[in-house]
Amino acid sequence: MSKPNFALLKLFITGPTYIRDEIKEAGRLPEFGHRDAENDLRFAPIRENLRKLAGCGDDYEPILCLGSGSTAMEASVRSLVAEGETILNVSVGAFGDMYYNLADHNGKKSENLKFDYGQAIDLNVLEDKLKELKPDLVSFTHNETSTGVVNDMKATCELIRAHGAMPIVDGVSIFGGADLDLSNSGAAMYSTATQKALALPAGFGIGFVSGEAEEKAAKVTNKGHHHDITKHLGRARKNQTLTTPNCTLANQMYVQLDHIVNVEGIENRFNRHIEMRGMVEKWVAGLDGFEMFAPEGYRSPTVSTVLCPAGVTVTQLKKGVKEALRGGGYLMDPGYGKLNAALEEAGRRLVIRVGHMGDIMPDMLGEYLGKLEVELKKL
Ligand SMILES: *Cc1c(COP(=O)(O)O)cnc(C)c1O
Repeated sequence: MSKPNFALLKLFITGPTYIRDEIKEAGRLPEFGHRDAENDLRFAPIRENLRKLAGCGDDYEPILCLGSGSTAMEASVRSLVAEGETILNVSVGAFGDMYYNLADHNGKKSENLKFDYGQAIDLNVLEDKLKELKPDLVSFTHNETSTGVVNDMKATCELIRAHGAMPIVDGVSIFGGADLDLSNSGAAMYSTATQKALALPAGFGIGFVSGEAEEKAAKVTNKGHHHDITKHLGRARKNQTLTTPNCTLANQMYVQLDHIVNVEGIENRFNRHIEMRGMVEKWVAGLDGFEMFAPEGYRSPTVSTVLCPAGVTVTQLKKGVKEALRGGGYLMDPGYGKLNAALEEAGRRLVIRVGHMGDIMPDMLGEYLGKLEVELKKL
């Protein structure tokens, strides 16, 4: 076989994320049959450790859907919005818009309440919308990856429930990097994925399904097959997946979740993410002309966004800074494409992102910020 000419880059983007060697090696563990007793040896501990990481005990049932984060999100929409019902989506960026599109493209009666880039959900504005629309469900993004804004999940779910609607949450880019306290979050279903703060390859959409969501789904018709959480739950309770799982990823996930829970420790992992956010804030404070983009109090622990000086162009970031860092062995994030295109067109300052989630360590981040600073100072 000819050797492919692939560069080994350290990923400082927002997903997929950097994968440790131990996890790459875990890809060599034995393949197995997913309806055999060997399956249980992987998925029983995987599901148990997912519950620990979410802080949900037995209050939620974890399901693993072959696919990615949007597969679990689509399952939430297909399985929980009944015919004739209305779903309101609350968007603070590109991934918020995606949850709306998933509902819309599945023919659900849906509306999108949008906030400006860089803002968190304004609960007063949401409350007015809830009164006006009286939706049956509300979807929103916990951690908006395009803007680095984290919403207050508990307060948002509480408001939604006070207006008689069921909250469903996209937690794709934060699960595994922050304390969710899912049991007390108010979310009916919480969706996430493997390739972000869990630092695994992509391959499973993960859904945490409450008893309330399970009851609701039982009454919803036209859920399809792969997006039917009732079917997933039946298999999940036997520690199985609805369809053939990615067995390689299951082995890697077994090793990674055991590492997170029993070697690094969940508290340590969450604290490490907060520490890395602090490192970026401190670094930005010392960089002339640059500022944090997300407002204080709503800054994500997994992805930081940085406002560039006026006049910096998309071309400079994508062709100049990003390519220079590639030469140093790094994949830099020059900002969410659509967001920067819109900002540039409006004559507003552009935003770059620093992904610091999963298994990125503070010393790795420090080294990267040093290299990034050299390039940014050339602008
Ligand atoms: C990455 C991401 C998604 C999409 O997830 P996929 O795993 O690519 O399907 C959805 N929401 C958020 C917030 C994300 O960061």
